Amino acid sequence: MRAFLSFGSNVGNRAEHLRAGVAIVAGTDPYRLSRVYETEPVGGVAQDDYWNLVMELVTEASPWALLERAQRAEAQRDRTRDVRWGPRTLDVDVLWAEGFTSDDPRLTVPHPRAMERAFVVVPWRELAPELISQFDVERATGRVVALDTLELLQ
Ligand code: ATP
Ligand code: CA
Ligand code: CA
Repeated sequence: MRAFLSFGSNVGNRAEHLRAGVAIVAGTDPYRLSRVYETEPVGGVAQDDYWNLVMELVTEASPWALLERAQRAEAQRDRTRDVRWGPRTLDVDVLWAEGFTSDDPRLTVPHPRAMERAFVVVPWRELAPELISQFDVERATGRVVALDTLELLQ
């Protein structure tokens, strides 16, 4: 199965949180990463800018197992849950999984807010222009600035 996940961090060493999270979520599955984008926070809580990227994963794991990996990665980076949409060391969301939909509140896929967010669709389009069009990018909102690949960032 092919799946896409979004990663974000805006507390502490953002590159380290992202790198550790990517390793945990991918495990031994093959993956590709978008570049990292510096992005403005959404949700109205005053906080530092995020670094965001999107991962494409090819896996035999179920979407529920991917959610479990995502939450394990967040816990490993000591993510705390204070305010909704507030600052966090690491946030990992399941965006899309091939042939799978769910409206369970614990796992809603496709992610219901993904398409409105430039910090999701811009990096996602880098990996999957056949799924995310230029039109999708133009409809999404939020300031995003491409930085570099994760491996080149400190
Ligand atoms: P948003 O979902 O708007 O990006 P958020 O990422 O800040 O907000 P969290 O506090 O990280 O929200 O997650 C709240 C809950 O969302 C989690 O407990 C998780 O079970 C649930 N959830 C539902 N769908 C998904 C999904 N596709 N990926 C990750 N978590 C999900
Ligand atoms: Ca999120
Ligand atoms: Ca989340």
